[in-house]
Amino acid sequence: MTDFTTLTLHEALDGLAKKDFSAREAMEAHLDAAEAAQGALNCFSVIDREHALATADASDARRAKGEAGLLEGAPLAIKDLFAVKGVETTASSNILKGFRPPYESTVTQNLWNAGATMVAKTSMDEFAMGSSNETAASGPVINPWKATGSDEALVPGGSSGGSVSALAAGISYGATGTDTGGSIRQPAAFTGLVGVKPTYGRCSRWGVVAFASSLDHPGPIAKTVKDAALLTQVMSGHDPKDSTSYPGAVPDFAAAVGRSVKGLRIGIPKEYRLEGMPADIERLWGEGAEWLKAAGAEIVEVSLPMTKYALPAYYIIAPAEASSNLARYDGMRYGQRIEGDDLIDTYEKTRAAGFGKEVQRRIMIGTYVLSAGYYDAYYVKALKVRRKILEDFNAAFEKCDALLTPATPSAAFGIGSKAKASPIEMYLNDVFTVTANIAGVPAMSVPAGLDANGLPLGLQIITKALDEETMFTVGAAIEDAAGFTAKPERWWA
Ligand code: GLN
Repeated sequence: MTDFTTLTLHEALDGLAKKDFSAREAMEAHLDAAEAAQGALNCFSVIDREHALATADASDARRAKGEAGLLEGAPLAIKDLFAVKGVETTASSNILKGFRPPYESTVTQNLWNAGATMVAKTSMDEFAMGSSNETAASGPVINPWKATGSDEALVPGGSSGGSVSALAAGISYGATGTDTGGSIRQPAAFTGLVGVKPTYGRCSRWGVVAFASSLDHPGPIAKTVKDAALLTQVMSGHDPKDSTSYPGAVPDFAAAVGRSVKGLRIGIPKEYRLEGMPADIERLWGEGAEWLKAAGAEIVEVSLPMTKYALPAYYIIAPAEASSNLARYDGMRYGQRIEGDDLIDTYEKTRAAGFGKEVQRRIMIGTYVLSAGYYDAYYVKALKVRRKILEDFNAAFEKCDALLTPATPSAAFGIGSKAKASPIEMYLNDVFTVTANIAGVPAMSVPAGLDANGLPLGLQIITKALDEETMFTVGAAIEDAAGFTAKPERWWA
């Protein structure tokens, strides 16, 4: 009998094409696994058996008619930020409780058009604000990985924590995520998975609950680089419904996997060597450069001097946009409403009850930095820093074709360990990832090894805007050399 939980997306597509198993059989196995794991991992926001089986049956019917798409019959997990028609979509927030969108996000529609099926929707940090998936209204998501010899529950990273937890536990063949400051790459690195943030505009934001519109990037999470390339390809494409959508054609990303890195110049940005960085991360970064060199690439040192201003600029721009985007949740049109004495009182009571603490903090910071008198000092200054960061990347890409950096400054940490410290402690998680959001350039994390505690660590590859192909080529070379095959020990079901 097929062990559905260990297959990669490409292996599963092969099995489905050869009729070793049907979309329905694959779905039933994944639904059973989802229901069995939910108590321990808490990674799903909605498991709708009926909806899931209907998508699988429709897929089997298409295949019977000879109409199989690129992802025909493969069950995917969908982050709860993507609107899926008729299925509750809450962004893991109480304020959207009960909201069933009457429309479908473009990215999920692209996946369904290619024949994919949906096993369930996944939990996330509320409105995608966080790095640990501890701010979801439905409680923390647990990482399937544990440190060697320890039973401590670890965070899966965030904000796409439910997606990575489900995928690392073998409860789908791929997942969607969104990355505003690192929310695909950091959780992928914490769970031994591949996470891709394509160029800004590649994947439509239409139907994705907005956090910070100029920084939000939908993208895939996958078990292998080849799976990630195929998912990126299907999810991408011009969308007239998103005014920032890139109008050009989508290259054959999967074809870039396996190309030689010979002659490629790989930049090592010296500013990413942080003081106090764990030795295992430093070591792995050096190994990564050696692997690429051995495969024929040239290693060059580059400088991104504005890096140290990236996090402060992000924590002004992202909350500013969030405070504006989240103004629509007023209890009038959708989600939760707490009746007050008058309209203003209803707004206040609804928003006070519906938003969690971190979301409220972001709205307050955003409103503050946009207010008259502070706008120039904070918001405009942050935009100037943003331009400088983009110029840094432009200069670096004159000297190299891709950048290699660590994905995160640590491995997965214990539930509660950073949330209790200070918000700043949590914000530091994104130190290596936010720059690519600020510049809109593609970036991915690839699992590259384990730390001394047996927890996965990732390396990040960043390339020029619209050059995902080089990113996938370098990512696949790292994957090949790393030979990362470790899996979490199965304790959750
Ligand atoms: N951790 C960052 C934040 O809290 C990024 C989140 C994200 O990429 N959605 O804003």
